Amino acid sequence: MDSLPMQRGPYEELNISELNRVKEWDANKEAQALFQAQFREFIESKPLYSNFKLTLPPGRTQFFLEVARLYCQVCKTFQPFRRPDVSQWYHFNDKNLRVSDKQIMRAFDLLKNCVYPVELFCQECHRGFYDFFIAVSVTHGS
Ligand SMILES: [Zn+2]
Repeated sequence: MDSLPMQRGPYEELNISELNRVKEWDANKEAQALFQAQFREFIESKPLYSNFKLTLPPGRTQFFLEVARLYCQVCKTFQPFRRPDVSQWYHFNDKNLRVSDKQIMRAFDLLKNCVYPVELFCQECHRGFYDFFIAVSVTHGS
């Protein structure tokens, strides 16, 4: 009989090396800035369904875009777009996160091969918005 790895529950704790990768990313402002710049360039310039390689953060809540300059359909001009305070799309596990406690503690808080929504709202009119669905491949770093 094969010994399959036992499926552990959703509250499985992060192992120490993964937790350290998350903490290193939190402390590494250079990596964060590079990720933001690359992610922004991707959102602003790449056509739909395009593929893009970049260094991804280890944690799910570390995967977000701070700001992008996009065309606003309401303002009829280019405006800075930022994520809203309260997302309409969220990971089902986010219900377990308190707003003041965005800590990455559990295995499911790691960024996985999955589709992640990125919501951006126009900072001028707060009405124009974009919903991007980003297929993340941690394995390929894209
Ligand atoms: Zn606008």
